[in-house]
Amino acid sequence: MMGKIYVVGIGPGGRADMTERAFKTLQGADVIVGYKAYITLIEGYFAGKELVSSGMRQEVERCREVLAMAKSGKTVALISSGDSGIYGMAGVMLEVAQGSGIAVEIIPGVTALTAAAAILGAPIMHDFVVISLSDCLTPWELIEKRLEAAGMGDFVVCLYNPKSKTRTTYVEQAEKILLKYRTATTPVGIVLKAGREGQQAQITTLNGMAICDIDMFTVLIIGNSNTVTHEGKMITPRGYTVC
Ligand code: SAH
Repeated sequence: MMGKIYVVGIGPGGRADMTERAFKTLQGADVIVGYKAYITLIEGYFAGKELVSSGMRQEVERCREVLAMAKSGKTVALISSGDSGIYGMAGVMLEVAQGSGIAVEIIPGVTALTAAAAILGAPIMHDFVVISLSDCLTPWELIEKRLEAAGMGDFVVCLYNPKSKTRTTYVEQAEKILLKYRTATTPVGIVLKAGREGQQAQITTLNGMAICDIDMFTVLIIGNSNTVTHEGKMITPRGYTVC
């Protein structure tokens, strides 16, 4: 008998932010597969379950392994942090499974962006864009073009993958581009390890954004021209008249 594949977004980290559907899917799976750091986040809740961890940059291989397991009759859960359809494993798993006859179901999760926005206040109440600063799979020229367009459109801008050990200057470059369209005092929220142990959040301004502590577990939310900081919360007004 054929197995089945679930691609599961486990949320930003803690059990409280994992959906019930995601939790039950993981409970019901014969095996859970994922990047080491994510397996570590959840293993405490699934004692006795077969867990398979793999390294970064082995996404296609990981999906092929998952497909082989499902073909042997297992129910396999492939996990991503946050939502698996946002810079996660959902797309590549669907591509690898194409034509195999194995069913793939995607289970949504709380993405880093919404987890971070809730910590900061309400910064994405109006139109926003999400841009990954990682040029591993996307040419930097295209990333710059998207930053320009987002600046021009006065969108709230959310940045994923802002920095890694080798990509250290991209936040600075993003800051320069957005300063062409926004004032230096535009509020910027920076959240590190949202919903995980070690969570840190701060609100700064666009001209000070690049000098803040930012690493690969950080998400940045840059306000639009109406965003304000009020009593420690970042708010992008939707337009209601509030007396
Ligand atoms: N699928 C994930 C995103 C994976 S891309 C999701 O939906 O959240 C990896 C990037 O996501 C990181 O570089 C960081 O920018 C962001 N990220 C993931 N988890 C995070 C967390 N708990 N806190 C802050 N940023 C996080």
